[in-house]
Amino acid sequence: MMKTYYAQNMPLSDQANALQSQIEALQGLEHASAEKLRTYQADALKALMRHAHRYSSFWRTRLDKAGYADQTSVYKVLQALEPLTRADIQQQFEALRAQPPEMARSRVRTATSSGSTGSPVTVEKDMVVYSLFYLANSWIESYWHHRDGRQKIAVITMQLEETSHTSWGGAFDVLGYRGPSVTRGYMLGNADNHLDWLLQEKPAYLKCNASIAAELAERSLSRGDHLPLVQIMSQTERVQPKHRALCLAAFGAPIADRYSCEEAGWLAFECPTHHHLHALSGTVLIEILDDNNQPCPPGTVGRVLITSLHSFAMPLIRYELGDLAEWGPACGCGVTLPVIAKLHGRIRNRVQLPGGSSAMPFLGDDLGFISSIRQFRTIQHPDLSLELEVAVSKTLDLSEIEKIHKIYKANGLGALKLKITELPEIPWPVGRKREEFVSMYAPNSGNSSIDVQP
Ligand SMILES: [Zn+2]
Repeated sequence: MMKTYYAQNMPLSDQANALQSQIEALQGLEHASAEKLRTYQADALKALMRHAHRYSSFWRTRLDKAGYADQTSVYKVLQALEPLTRADIQQQFEALRAQPPEMARSRVRTATSSGSTGSPVTVEKDMVVYSLFYLANSWIESYWHHRDGRQKIAVITMQLEETSHTSWGGAFDVLGYRGPSVTRGYMLGNADNHLDWLLQEKPAYLKCNASIAAELAERSLSRGDHLPLVQIMSQTERVQPKHRALCLAAFGAPIADRYSCEEAGWLAFECPTHHHLHALSGTVLIEILDDNNQPCPPGTVGRVLITSLHSFAMPLIRYELGDLAEWGPACGCGVTLPVIAKLHGRIRNRVQLPGGSSAMPFLGDDLGFISSIRQFRTIQHPDLSLELEVAVSKTLDLSEIEKIHKIYKANGLGALKLKITELPEIPWPVGRKREEFVSMYAPNSGNSSIDVQP
């Protein structure tokens, strides 16, 4: 596991002390009133905007346009700011940097998003600040979910990797906690030999993409393995109800969902007691906006924009992530951080309709509960027709086919031709996110056939 110490020249004991203080500071916000959170975020936002205005030519222009000089309320400036797009970052990389000339370059590292949307984005992070918040939040997530760091954790990554360590890495390492971890690359094998590996390692925890956990669960059930796990920690992809059901059935283990992005780190963690997420307000200010950039009330799906509150090296303010989500009502678990009731996946999951309009269907959860369907992916072809690729445990019967058509119809897609293709396996792109929907239609959006090639 990678050692992500946030200040390489600092003795470990000093790092541990700094991390401990940061954890306590963030824990202090978990039960804060809405007013206290708002004040905390206003102060952080003020500092970030001041820094961005001083050191970044891009932000100076944008902030001035949003009335930065005259406005007394930092939230009013935020609401007047044009969303920051992926294209802005790709085209204005230099101008977005906000690094004082005296700042040591060794503090800065680049991070590149996975590019599953067809256009990877690279940002720069001040690792001293970024890692401190990243590690503190990781620790808090583990604490929420009562993990026992002495037990073994198995990690299946999308890289080619096979390692073992005496620590879980990251915050555990810095704080001096010891417990074994083993890591394996998904590409090193198939579901069967990953299961053999897990049976041999006998971990208590498994960390991997939710779709991979579900695939392993399904295989394990059909093989009749006995592989009890305490918990699965998801990464990268949206967790579907079907993923949760399969993992409970096969491993007796719940999935803990963790929402993050490469550009800004952790964004939200699954509540300690419910299946929704709590936004990490100490680190990130999340907005969910409608098409007119107005805030969505709870229960209404909108676009996710984030302000990474400590992104000093390259400020990300009102950055449009390309995800869709909805707020939920306050949670009864004791954590007062805002509730994200549901993540709906990527914006590009919009299906193009005849006549130029588009629909935002949420097919995944319903399709997942058709019992013969193991995996699925919808493709929209350039002629607008849809193709549902399904990997099935047995050939779909007439009632299941009828059910599929009903789901598409209920999602406003009745006008489009739908072909259902049964495959032994879905040809997922290697080493990348598994997208539930792939558009081959939009010629200018950067979507390309590359996404569906293995
Ligand atoms: Zn909660």
